[in-house]
Amino acid sequence: MSEQAEIGVIGGSGFYSFLDDVTEVTVETPYGAPSDSLFTGELAGRRVAFLPRHGRKHHLPPHRINYRANMWALASVGARQVLGPCAVGGLRAEYGPGTLVVPDQLVDRTKSRAQTYFDGEPLPDGTVPHVVHVTFADPYCESGRQASLAAAREHGWDAVDGGTLCVVEGPRFSSRAESLWHAAQGWSVVGMTGHPEAVLARELGLCYSSLNLVTDLDAGAETGEGVSHEEVLRVFGENVGRLRTVLFDAVAKLPRKRECACGDALGGIDPGIELPGAGRE
Ligand SMILES: [Zn+2]
Repeated sequence: MSEQAEIGVIGGSGFYSFLDDVTEVTVETPYGAPSDSLFTGELAGRRVAFLPRHGRKHHLPPHRINYRANMWALASVGARQVLGPCAVGGLRAEYGPGTLVVPDQLVDRTKSRAQTYFDGEPLPDGTVPHVVHVTFADPYCESGRQASLAAAREHGWDAVDGGTLCVVEGPRFSSRAESLWHAAQGWSVVGMTGHPEAVLARELGLCYSSLNLVTDLDAGAETGEGVSHEEVLRVFGENVGRLRTVLFDAVAKLPRKRECACGDALGGIDPGIELPGAGRE
């Protein structure tokens, strides 16, 4: 597939619907279909592919998203740097609704999600992935993080630099005990979709970073009834406009030539299968 994008953004139609010249691109992958078509367009002189994480009708719950197909699809149209914004709950009283966190660490508490391309199963073309263990000490691309932080600050949004995103299986919210436990570990925010996006991006040599918009205080960090879906949607709706502005400026600030180590995640190991975008920089 030709290079139709250089940057991937995982987010719904609220992010791309008003861009000029948006093209819908259907992609199939060896791991099945992504959540939806990709929507490519030009933004700040950069070619961007948007992918609605939950599908354009928001019909996929977090645990049913085909994360492998999503990241593969973005890479196959040429994206090498990916921004994955998501809504989260705050695990500290000071991270109330409207807080923006750009995490630098991640804890995986998901349970059922395929989170590697190298699971020994043959692909439809008969090739078999080798066993590969990628480094994941620092799950996020620092260049992407800095682009998001700079963009947020330019718009007067004092984003939290660093912190730990705890990703839970969902689709339910945490119990009060779970939430207190997450907070007691010193983790910052809790969400349902930031993983396995991060590790799959790493396996494909993509840069990946996340912007976490706090929509609620998680059950253990507040004293009320606990988080509701309605509250999350309301706060997200109130903030989606400025999140979009920050996201677009972050896209503009991403380096045109990557100088981070994300592209070398396999360290020269032969993966046994042809990875999308292999050899591109
Ligand atoms: Zn990177």
